[in-house]
Amino acid sequence: MELSEDTKLCPCSSKLPYQQCCQPYHKGKHAPNALNLMRSRYAAYALGLADYIITTTHPKNPARKASLPLWRRELLAFSRGTKFKGLSILEFSDGESEAYVSFTAYLEQAGKDASFSERSRFLKEKGKWLYESGNVQKFLV
Ligand SMILES: [Zn+2]
Repeated sequence: MELSEDTKLCPCSSKLPYQQCCQPYHKGKHAPNALNLMRSRYAAYALGLADYIITTTHPKNPARKASLPLWRRELLAFSRGTKFKGLSILEFSDGESEAYVSFTAYLEQAGKDASFSERSRFLKEKGKWLYESGNVQKFLV
C-alpha cells in the first residue's frame, strides 16, 4: 500500500489524511489515548510497519515472540497477505492506566473475508499506552 502523498487517506478509516491522523504516531509521537493507539496500530498493520506494532505491544502480551526477527517477519507476512478494508470502532472505555477498545477490522486474505471483532485491553506504562491483550469475538455482520 503506497501512502506517500499528503492527501492519501489514513488506512484507519478516520477519513482524515494520513499525515493528520496516524502518521505522527508512526513517527514517534505518543498516542494520547488507547483509541488513537488502536487506530494507529491498525494503520501500521495496513502499511506494514512491523516495528510500530512491536514497540506498542505490552511485554505481557501473549503473542509477543521470544524472537524479535521472527515476530517481525510474521507481522510483515500478515500485512503483505492481507487487504485492510476498513476499521469500525464499536466502543471505547477510557481510564487512567487501563482502557478497552472494541472494534471490527474488515480484512480479506486470499480473496476470502477475514474480518473479526475484538475487545482489546490497553495499559499505560510510563506515560505510554500499550496494547496488552485482546479477546477476539464472533464477527458481527
Ligand atoms: Zn489514522
